[in-house]
Amino acid sequence: TFRAVLITRSEEHGQSVDFVELSEDDLMEGDVTVAVEATTVNYKDGLAITGKAPVVRRFPMIPGVDLAGTVTRSSHPQWKEGDRVILNGWGVGETHYGAYAGRARVSGDWLVPLPAEMSPADAMAIGTAGYTAMLCVMALERHGIVPDRGRVVVTGAAGGVGSVAVSLLANLGYEVVASTGRQSEASYLRELGAAEIIGREELSAPARPLGKERWAGGVDAVGSHTLANVLSMTSYGGAVAACGLAQGMDLPASVAPFILRGVSLLGIDSVMAPKSLRLEAWGRLARDLDRSKMAALASTIPFSQVVEAAEDIVAGRVRGRLVVEM
Ligand code: NAP
Repeated sequence: TFRAVLITRSEEHGQSVDFVELSEDDLMEGDVTVAVEATTVNYKDGLAITGKAPVVRRFPMIPGVDLAGTVTRSSHPQWKEGDRVILNGWGVGETHYGAYAGRARVSGDWLVPLPAEMSPADAMAIGTAGYTAMLCVMALERHGIVPDRGRVVVTGAAGGVGSVAVSLLANLGYEVVASTGRQSEASYLRELGAAEIIGREELSAPARPLGKERWAGGVDAVGSHTLANVLSMTSYGGAVAACGLAQGMDLPASVAPFILRGVSLLGIDSVMAPKSLRLEAWGRLARDLDRSKMAALASTIPFSQVVEAAEDIVAGRVRGRLVVEM
């Protein structure tokens, strides 16, 4: 048997979250069983555990959208016992039993190989947040937003997506403007490579249709007025990769940046991203992320603390990334 976090829901008591003891027979269908060695707490896991947004769509549910570990059993042609793997998304922790358990049984189609230079904990220091930051950078590159084009802005910079985005972009030679609501994290963000720190409040009020051109592009983890402002301040022909909603799901923007400056809005989804894109992203992460910065960026917590950490991340109290060692 193994320990797992289980979210249950009843008419009477609403949602409850408990540590339970399960066996492999309790797991859902799948052709690969993985011994989970490390997982993490993303914003989405925070929403699932606190019940603040309807992330969980089947009850009971084992939450946790990210895992790294070793295959213990497989009838999938690509995987055999002993293979080291990563899983991000695909509805795991939402509709399929997730990562917060000693074992996970999943579809082999959802797995990518753990890059040889990474441990399971290294991969979870990156996690969905970091892999999404990489997808954002790849989208900007595809759009021609290279370091020579000018500065790039990262919103929610001290969070998980933001921290990895700052670190990656700086390492790739971009001049990074980091927007944060936590001025106390300014030195942390400079350590990750930010050239300039701006206050979140500069971007969080209702946006004008067009503002002064401040950057060639950006990675936005915040949405709402913040994304509208980022777009309105993007220079001619620039692009912004949008992946998050920490301020809100709405987008109170005008079309002015699109039709007067040729600015592009690039939508980023990590959950259903095709395998080829995942393989490219993890390959790039293994290569382009400065490993020495990951120590500053990630902290490790024991499995017993995931529920508290879920509350902290939704309250905006988590810096960078959390690794959960099983
Ligand atoms: P996180 O660690 O909590 O980071 C979010 C950051 O946003 C916070 O650290 C904070 O940064 C900022 N923030 C929080 N509340 C805010 C507010 N009201 N107004 C403005 N800024 C605010 O979460 P994460 O795991 O990095 O995820 C970030 C976002 O990306 C979430 O919305 C998540 O759902 C989304 N996401 C999407 C995908 C996808 O596939 N599209 C994948 C991963 C994550 P500062 O303290 O620096 O201001």
